[in-house]
Amino acid sequence: MTRARTPAVAGWFTDAPGGFRLLGTRCSACSAVFFPPEGAFCRNPDCAGGGELLEVPLSGRGRVWSYTDGRYRPPAPYVSDPSVPWEPYTLVAVELAAEAMVVLGQAAPGVGVADLAVGMEVELVPGVLHEDADTTWTTWHWRPVTS
Ligand SMILES: [Zn+2]
Repeated sequence: MTRARTPAVAGWFTDAPGGFRLLGTRCSACSAVFFPPEGAFCRNPDCAGGGELLEVPLSGRGRVWSYTDGRYRPPAPYVSDPSVPWEPYTLVAVELAAEAMVVLGQAAPGVGVADLAVGMEVELVPGVLHEDADTTWTTWHWRPVTS
């Protein structure tokens, strides 16, 4: 059976031509960029307001700002099967220079804390958050740049 590939959160990333990218919002009044996308109002407290909020793809590469791993199963409402052994995952905070922001995400499968260092260049890649009977829930991952 083929599972439908569905974004875990609609509108936060795209796999459009030009590459897999996170989608943010740029305020046309103050040029500040936000992630996750913002539809209601500019989050910059110094913004005079009155601008349009425009969808913009964020940089596909950044540098590791910090990282850690999750070695314990979080309590509910976190969804996990307690009958399956907990698999640690790696969480990376990535600084995007052009947007002047830090975005969190999981590291790609097989990338652990021993593979990361602050300042290392990483790239955004498509990933899988979770699979159930009908659906592959997709997300983004960060992976060290090797070339
Ligand atoms: Zn603004």
